Amino acid sequence: MTMDPENGTITWTSAPPVGTQEMTWPVLRIPSSGAKGLIILSDQMLGTYTHYFGGRSNPCGDHQCKACEDGNQKRWHGYLGVWMPKAAKKGILEITEAAADTLAKMADKRVTLRALSIAAQRQPAKANGKLIIQLTESEWSADGLPPAPDLVRILRRIWGLQPEESVQQMQEAFKRRSNALNGRTK
Ligand SMILES: [Zn+2]
Repeated sequence: MTMDPENGTITWTSAPPVGTQEMTWPVLRIPSSGAKGLIILSDQMLGTYTHYFGGRSNPCGDHQCKACEDGNQKRWHGYLGVWMPKAAKKGILEITEAAADTLAKMADKRVTLRALSIAAQRQPAKANGKLIIQLTESEWSADGLPPAPDLVRILRRIWGLQPEESVQQMQEAFKRRSNALNGRTK
């Protein structure tokens, strides 16, 4: 939004500026100390295989995946939009495959996960300890909660995928960039 002091006009937009969504919705991992009171905003979990390289999680390119070809282990992760009323924060919670089972069973039974409260702990209490989650009904009604995030759109942005770009195209661009970088620094 800008204001021109000359004639007092204001430019209004119906959506936030491009690039602000992933700041509003960072990917959250449960810390070693655990977490509680996270309210689920999404109706369903969204999951996919990811690889860890370049200092972050990246999506797997499936049948033509460069990371798979390079022998980088792929791991499935589930993602959910969550809200922390006390901290007034929103984020995309990353769930491990083992913990996701609890959510999948609940989604079958209850149809939607929205408005459930998550308590999570790690056993042992380490950053990579096994994630264990418990779901309870929260005091919030589905209507009283902030809207659910568009998980596909936000994750694509976080993963650096341009609109319509495939994971394979993104990986090739990533490889070209790192090769160019290595060439420069050698
Ligand atoms: Zn892969």
